Amino acid sequence: MTEPEVLLFLGDLARAWPDAQTELHYTTPFTLLVAVVLSAQATDASVNRVTPALFAAAPTPQAMAALGDEQVGELIRTIGLWRNKAKNVVALSRQLLAEHGGQIPHTREALEKLAGVGRKTANVVLNVAFNQPTVPVDTHVFRLANRSGLGRGRTVEAVEKKLEVRIPLPMMRDSHHWLILQGRYVCKARKPECWRCAAQQSCLYPDKTPLPRPKATRTGA
Ligand code: SF4
Repeated sequence: MTEPEVLLFLGDLARAWPDAQTELHYTTPFTLLVAVVLSAQATDASVNRVTPALFAAAPTPQAMAALGDEQVGELIRTIGLWRNKAKNVVALSRQLLAEHGGQIPHTREALEKLAGVGRKTANVVLNVAFNQPTVPVDTHVFRLANRSGLGRGRTVEAVEKKLEVRIPLPMMRDSHHWLILQGRYVCKARKPECWRCAAQQSCLYPDKTPLPRPKATRTGA
């Protein structure tokens, strides 16, 4: 995409998602970090179903570490990979207590050293909790960026680098939410819904989908 096309594309998404926010429920940087770790390969809705009880029992790293793997596992066992996630959540809580005074670090390097925290999770926490201009690339953003031409690349890192260069700094933080929501609900994995996409004018995807025809219904006796 050219610079004007990028601005047009992002402007259209901004209008489509004026109040875009993360769909994960959280109240503090710690609960956000835990929710994002739990959301790997799980839907936000499934995470939001387990976090009220988890955060009521363990709202702080101290409480989460004290709860331990087994009890955390009991509280999150309806989400995918719950055993590993329970271990990671308890381990990262212990790391926060031992290495960061129970606080969430503000740098990607320090966040990525925590159990279960990869680059995408670190970027989400920096963006959402600390207002830093990061562009986390999850499966939805990767697909949308490649289809639309906003930032094509074979790997998550390559796409992230392109987006960091192309997205103007003042739009970078919000674009995280616009891109995720657009990818999740409109530019869907199996078939994009281009006919109702706010950014179809500037999108470079060559096989845009038309409005589906209504199914024929039988008439008469
Ligand atoms: S026009 Fe289609 S392919 Fe392009 S971003 Fe929108 S939904 Fe995705």
